[in-house]
Amino acid sequence: MTLLAIKNLTKRFGGLTAVESLTIDVESGGVHGLIGPNGSGKSTVLNLISGIYRPTEGSIALSGAEITGLKPNQRARVGVGRTFQNIRLFPTLTVLQNVMMGRVTQQHGSLMGIVLNSPLVRREVKETTDRAREALRFMGIETFADEFHRNLPYGHQRLVEIARVLASGAKLMLLDEPAAGLNSSEKKNLGHLLTRMCDVFGSTVLLVEHDMRLLMSVSRTVSAVNFGKLIVTGSTANVQSDPDVIKAYLGAGSSK
Ligand code: ADP
Ligand code: MG
Repeated sequence: MTLLAIKNLTKRFGGLTAVESLTIDVESGGVHGLIGPNGSGKSTVLNLISGIYRPTEGSIALSGAEITGLKPNQRARVGVGRTFQNIRLFPTLTVLQNVMMGRVTQQHGSLMGIVLNSPLVRREVKETTDRAREALRFMGIETFADEFHRNLPYGHQRLVEIARVLASGAKLMLLDEPAAGLNSSEKKNLGHLLTRMCDVFGSTVLLVEHDMRLLMSVSRTVSAVNFGKLIVTGSTANVQSDPDVIKAYLGAGSSK
């Protein structure tokens, strides 16, 4: 079943075409990798899906429903969650509070309800806290729940970001270089967590990751782009042996 359908997606920044007529289907459940040399448009694709950018042309559908016209918060509400290439969490909130923020968009309590501490709001706060704790436990960082986010080691901060998206209950998780800055054992742990997350929670992840070994080890399907255009979508083996993919990487002067 297709969860995300990107069709003929194009994004121009002035004279520069960052994404060009891109068509990709992301199946529900599991990790779909998105690879390409630096500057090939990967982050722009994630920004288009999460609604930070409006496409110049094309459409985006989630579970068959068009989301192209929705604002970022509306997309979050229908189940699009994301992390950023650079960590964007609140340094002065605790780890638990940061993870709870991921679910705020899903709640229904009115401002008046919050002021009056209504039963609905109290129930939602409890549910949000429970979900956040569960996500932290799953990521193996529950013991840091009450620490300030900024006091955590960098590798743990990255896991908090993923926990935040997990706790939000997002149907589609967009992860932009989650392994950036991690050491090799942290990367291994991350790969393991991503795989387990899909198995246990049925998550669907669209993963942009510079570390090829990690990306290939967790992805079921991979799409390769270059200059904003799709080269190929296929199994990891097919993509790795695709001559145009190899050429794109060699052309970019990268050994990865
Ligand atoms: P990747 O994530 O694959 O490294 P990006 O999506 O960040 O690539 O960038 C693709 C191209 O679009 C690059 O040439 C980049 O400079 C350009 N670009 C990205 N965002 C903007 C923007 N907001 N304004 C102008 N150009 C942009
Ligand atoms: Mg990028």
